Amino acid sequence: MAIATKTTTEQPGQTWYSSKLRDARWQKKAAEIKALAGWKCEECSGMQDLTVHHCYYIRGRDPWEYDNGLLICLCWECHRERQMFEDALMLGIALHLRQRATCDIKNTPAWAFFGEKPELLPLE
Ligand SMILES: [Zn+2]
Repeated sequence: MAIATKTTTEQPGQTWYSSKLRDARWQKKAAEIKALAGWKCEECSGMQDLTVHHCYYIRGRDPWEYDNGLLICLCWECHRERQMFEDALMLGIALHLRQRATCDIKNTPAWAFFGEKPELLPLE
């Protein structure tokens, strides 16, 4: 099965998202999450290169418009590993649902679908 990979070149959507992450409201929210985590990675306890990870995305919501419980403080390396795992998981879920034809997700990014329709996740 093909697995989504990150590219180093920003795509149009990523440029939009990057500008959101530079927004003062996100910077404040991210600092709050890092402080709540004690300025340590919640995976490895590292204190270098801290980032904030969205456990999932909800379409139309800005990065800072999430409950603190949906955000986790991770170092850059743990963030990268977790994102790769989650991207592969989301792709697998999307492909599975597409095969089952339980809904039309052909034009919907897996992450958005997962964020909006968690109740449709297959239980098997
Ligand atoms: Zn870490």
